[in-house]
Amino acid sequence: MTELEPLSFPGIDPNKPLIIAGPCSAETPEQVLTTARELADDGIHIFRAGIWKPRTKPGGFEGIGSPGLQWMQQVTRQTGMLTATEVANHAHALQAIEAGIDIIWIGARTSANPFAMQEIADTIAATGKASQLTVLVKNPVNPDIELWIGALQRIYNAGVRRLGAIHRGFTAYGPSPYRNTPQWSIPIELRLRLPELPIIVDPSHIGGRRELIAPISQQALDMGFNGLIIESHCDPDNAWSDAAQQVTPQSLNLILNSLVVRDHRQTTENLNILRGQIDRIDNELLEILARRMDVSRQIGLYKKDHSMTVVQAGRYNNILDSRINAGSKMGMSSEFLKTILLAIHDESVRQQIEIINKSENK
Ligand code: PEP
Ligand code: MN
Repeated sequence: MTELEPLSFPGIDPNKPLIIAGPCSAETPEQVLTTARELADDGIHIFRAGIWKPRTKPGGFEGIGSPGLQWMQQVTRQTGMLTATEVANHAHALQAIEAGIDIIWIGARTSANPFAMQEIADTIAATGKASQLTVLVKNPVNPDIELWIGALQRIYNAGVRRLGAIHRGFTAYGPSPYRNTPQWSIPIELRLRLPELPIIVDPSHIGGRRELIAPISQQALDMGFNGLIIESHCDPDNAWSDAAQQVTPQSLNLILNSLVVRDHRQTTENLNILRGQIDRIDNELLEILARRMDVSRQIGLYKKDHSMTVVQAGRYNNILDSRINAGSKMGMSSEFLKTILLAIHDESVRQQIEIINKSENK
């Protein structure tokens, strides 16, 4: 994806985070237009609303469907806002593009499905409007970065250059403070792999609760992501979908004004000194790891000479707990410690097997 264009829009400051706001679903013309007017008065330029709603179970409100497209057109006429909606198949994409929707996004259930992604990509290409359209691809529900990148590639291959990603968190099983766990390391890896791709964060679907919108938004900006898409409804408690996570335009305005936008492009003298320290520490870490692998290889040879198995599961499970315990006392999370210690152990085992094989083939 080498020819991406920035997501700039007339009248929107390209140096500020891109803000998209609006209700989870378009419900009635009054609800759409009241919410849009209030958001526009607060300086929001891009209005979101779901017209076709993917619901986990049948029987819920599945979206108002195509009549909602006219309400979106009214939003543009009355407020000058740009509009954004979700598409999940050929018919949605075609209707949204024909109705002049400015930004289409692909939802998390759809980006997990390569057939649906290809169908939407083919539809976009067939309209001949790929180069004008802005398309945002939400992460798939499951934490699979390759699937996310694959979905983005299909849209890019259709000729879309105004392309972005939306991070909306990943399905978690069991109790969690989030509706969808953020697993920030995944959008961070996406940033490293596709540095030109704008990434927008959706705190509404990550948090699932109003009170989490401000802290998640601040985290997103602190990590240098490019914008926020936030659900806002003129009467959130009576919303037909996602009521618990929607905020009034007034609350949204308060939240946005409370956020601190840090300048991540500037580097100061002190920052350079600290970065130098990080570089040296990383080198030390690598050297220490290499020393540890060297000892592992010696152990490998010893085990071979004494006909012992390489993996002695009991031993590592015992020491894992005590190391996690020690590391936690140094201020690191046990989840992080477990990941890193298991990765080191896996590599040690690999190195032991490698040296044993080499010595046998001599
Ligand atoms: C939405 O944006 O309202 C939506 C359905 O989101 P997601 O695809 O992230 O669940
Ligand atoms: Mn929603």
